[in-house]
Amino acid sequence: MSEPLTIAVSKGRVLKDTLPLLAAAGIELAENPEESRRLILSTRGGQVRILQVRTSDVPTYVEHGAAHLGIVGKDVLLEHDGSSLYEPLDLDLAHCRLMVARPVGAERPARRLRVATKFIASARRHYAAQGIQVELIKLYGSVELGPLVGLSDEIVDLVDTGNTLRANGLEPVETVADISARLVVNKAAMKTRYREIRSIVDAMGRVVRERAADRADTAEGTA
Ligand code: AMP
Repeated sequence: MSEPLTIAVSKGRVLKDTLPLLAAAGIELAENPEESRRLILSTRGGQVRILQVRTSDVPTYVEHGAAHLGIVGKDVLLEHDGSSLYEPLDLDLAHCRLMVARPVGAERPARRLRVATKFIASARRHYAAQGIQVELIKLYGSVELGPLVGLSDEIVDLVDTGNTLRANGLEPVETVADISARLVVNKAAMKTRYREIRSIVDAMGRVVRERAADRADTAEGTA
């Protein structure tokens, strides 16, 4: 028998939200990820295993073939040179927006703009497309602090409810990208394990479409 098909998933919320989609493809964990400290999770039947990895590492595992498939936010893919991965499915999960934000009421200064962000590549593309010269300052967390302490004029960060921005006196001013979780596939594996991968992509895609149709029905019912 060939080695188990391996799927790298970011730990925590994305893994939890993805389990029903994986179940539709016949992939059910043999252990509870919240109780297990193991980084390789086995599944019933044993033909598939799940790697729990840090979200920004998912593309690296898939690109190098250590995982055949991966589940990861579009924000991470935008920072990664994605040319070596297929991205066959938007999972329509973990929605948020990558946005530019700045202190409420502030205007852009005449000098070169300073922008704090975890998302250097996305921010660089966004400002370059507008012809705005920026100094990008890489932070790894609590990015909203940047403008409050004079480190930066603006930030580029993920926004869900907007509560974190509001709590820190910031307002969103531009959308850089709409974000959701995506299924990615190693290009070589797409050829060598085609049937298994195709059946997973198709089964997950069916659930994603059914959910979207249910939501549209509910919206129509309440309109
Ligand atoms: P919120 O206050 O709901 O707008 O959430 C903003 C905070 O949550 C920021 O610090 C973001 O970095 C983080 N965040 C929001 N959505 C996501 C997501 N889908 N994935 C990872 N982090 C997120």
